[in-house]
Parts: sequence; C-alpha cells; structure tokens
Amino acid sequence: MNDILPGEVEVWQFVERTARELFGRYGYGEVRTPTVEDTALFVRSVGEETDIVGKEMYTFEDKGGRSLSLRPEGTAPAARAYIEHSIGNQEPLTRWFYMGPMFRYERMKTGRYRQFHQIGAEAYGSKEPAQDVEVMDMVVRLLLKLGLTDVSLNINSLGDEQCRPVYQARLVEHLRGHASELCADCQKRLERNPLRVLDCKNERCQQIANAAPNILESLCEPCRAHFAEVQRKLNALEIKYVVNPRIMRGLDYYTRTTFEFIASHPVLGTASTVGGGGRYDKLVKSLGGPDVPAVGFGLGLDRLCLLLKESGQRFSPSTDLFIAVADEGSADAAFVLASKLRHEGLRVEFDTRGGSLKSQMKRADKTGARFTLVLGQQERESGQAQLKPMAGGDPVPVSLEHIARTLREASSGVSSPSAS
Ligand code: ATP
Ligand code: MG
Repeated sequence: MNDILPGEVEVWQFVERTARELFGRYGYGEVRTPTVEDTALFVRSVGEETDIVGKEMYTFEDKGGRSLSLRPEGTAPAARAYIEHSIGNQEPLTRWFYMGPMFRYERMKTGRYRQFHQIGAEAYGSKEPAQDVEVMDMVVRLLLKLGLTDVSLNINSLGDEQCRPVYQARLVEHLRGHASELCADCQKRLERNPLRVLDCKNERCQQIANAAPNILESLCEPCRAHFAEVQRKLNALEIKYVVNPRIMRGLDYYTRTTFEFIASHPVLGTASTVGGGGRYDKLVKSLGGPDVPAVGFGLGLDRLCLLLKESGQRFSPSTDLFIAVADEGSADAAFVLASKLRHEGLRVEFDTRGGSLKSQMKRADKTGARFTLVLGQQERESGQAQLKPMAGGDPVPVSLEHIARTLREASSGVSSPSAS
C-alpha cells in the first residue's frame, strides 16, 4: 500500500480531474460507496471461484460478528447501491462513475499493489450495443485527453446463458485432453471455472488455450448480432480495436461484450492491462434487484499514473510569486500582502521564518517561483515595487495595489497542463 506525496499527487489529481470533467459530459454522475461491504456481496457477484474472492480479499469480522470485506472492485458495490436506493424505479437509464481505493491481497510488483485505485463507470438500463460502445468511447477519449496514445482496445464476447454453456462444454472437453499438463491452479479452474484457463499467464497453459475452440464461433444468433453491432458502432466512431477471443476477465458476472485496454509501455511489465470491463446483464437481478441490463468498466489509476509519469509531462502548477521581506518592520505588511494575493487567486510563497534577504532569495529559487517581490520600507512608503522574473530579464515595476493584475498580464501566454 503506497503513500502518495505532494510532487506525485499532482499526476493523480490531473487524471481524476480529467475523468470527472469528461464523464460529466457523457451524463455520468459520481457515486461514492463505502470502502467495506458485506463479504457475501462479493461472493455472490464476483464469484466464489475467482482469484479475487478465493484468495485476494481482505475479510474480517466486525464487533457485531458480521463478515465484512474491503472492496476488491467497484461494480458490485455500485450495483448494491443501485438496488438499495431503488434507482431502477426512478429512472430507466442510469449512468454512474466512481473513483477510489480498492483492496486485494496480491503478490506485489510494479503496477500491482494491495491498495490500488480504480476509476470506473456503470450504465444501467440499456441492453443496446450503443451502450457498450459509449462506455468504451469514454475510456478512449479519457486516454486521449491524458495523452496516452499507446494503448490498444481488445474486445470479445462471452455469449449469454444460451450459448456460453455450450461453449464451456466444448472447452472442458478440449482441456480435459491436456489436464495433466495444466498448472495446478488451472487444474482446479478446469473443474470450477474453466473459462479462466484461457487467460492464465502460465506458458504451457497458454499453448493449450491457443489450441482451444474459439468462443466467437459458439455464439448464438442474438449474441453474434450484438457483437457485430458493437463493432459496427466502434467503426462509426473510428475507434481502433482488436477482436481477441481470449479476453475472459476475472469476474463471473460478465455476459456478452468484454474488453480490455492494454498498454505496451515497458514500465508496466506484466501489469500491462490498464483497464477492462464488459456487460453484466444478470448481475443486478442476481443480487436481488430488478432485471436490469448493465455495462461498465474499471480503470487502474495507479497504472495510468505510472504511464503518465513516464510521459515527461509536468503536472505541478508553478508558484506565481515569492514575497521576500527586506527589513523587520515590513514583515507584517508582507504577511498581509501574501494572504491578500492568495485570496485573489495567486499561488504565493512566503517564508514565515523570516531571516536574511539572502536566505529568503535562496528559498525563492527552491520554490521555483516565477517572480519575486522584495518588500521593504521604501516600497511600503511609495506603494511601488519590482517584480523580478526568476528566469532572468528586466524587473517589472508594479503598484502594490495591482500586483495580481500585473502578474497575470506578465504571465499570459505561459500555460501549464493544470490550466488546459
Ligand atoms: P490483472 O489481470 O492485471 O490482475 P484484473 O483482471 O485482476 O487485472 P480488474 O479486476 O479487471 O483487474 O481491474 C481493472 C483494472 O484495475 C486492471 O486492469 C488494473 O489496471 C487495475 N488493477 C487490478 N488489480 C490491481 C492491483 N492489485 N494493483 C494495481 N492495479 C490493479
Ligand atoms: Mg488480478
């Protein structure tokens, strides 16, 4: 579990701010659910035989003897809230997004942590392919806005309750022929959750999976038509994608469309999937809610931030002004001036320790302030001072009354990513 300190947190804020703003344009409202839920919620939705529930959950008993778990993902909690607040009775189509920490007891490495963060979205109420494509489009646009261009969209269909069992039977038959060659985990999966063998990372399992029957050839007619329409609409939006019949996703609740966004940057190593999602038309009903179809995604914020840090972009906004005090008698006036300018919207540094002018100027350099203003008796009496550009160049005369305006004029044309 990581601490995120100032200096790094600006990257996180940039991604969060960009996502909030963008998802709002699509009509998605933010939902915030608790960090803990009844353990049973995840067992019933994510599935008992998945890695997440089987091995990775932080589960504990509270003082009332209830079994609770730190949430390992965001879809089940959102569905729980959707049901609990009878949202389906109030509106036919609901669009939510969320962001926050998730917890999984995993083996840690780059891009894989025990507390990590997801940005996700869920759309309830539409079974149409357009809804699948809308949520994929949101991710595509977000990645573009973040400047992450080297990410590929992989799509697949897992079929529905009609055609998936047929496929599963064919798959099991194929895998049984190689049972002894599968890794220990996959031998168990073969009995309990055979589809997951297809995305096992073990090399021999992958070879066996490569020779397995293709799920797309087993789709029933309605699932085939749905998947074809998803692709047609992706094409209409000029979104590039790869059809990849191996995209299974680790959770039990998916039906029909599934997708993953895979980055190719070496900084992520094997943790190259920055996000994934799909349709889960049976989830809300299976949790005791109405029969409402849904589709959504979850993005790994930690991994997005790792990629962004590699991109060399600058995220910390710079300090506009450092105010230095020339003499003891000006300390109060400088302190007041700093507060007033902050109120007017400037980012102002002021060294509350006081000290010599030389040590203050050293400090000004460290803060990276764009301008410094020295306030002494003369400036106070004349009401006039100098804005000294720290990058060099001529000082700009300024009236103490109009510092904010003069600074804005002096720096117009200089933009930072935080302002875009
Ligand atoms: P992986 O195959 O990498 O284990 P997953 O299928 O378990 O991913 P999901 O449950 O689909 O992941 O979660 C969506 C996204 O959340 C992932 O694509 C990834 O970016 C991120 N994520 C999942 N687990 C972690 C983790 N332990 N640490 C950091 N990010 C994670
Ligand atoms: Mg995982």
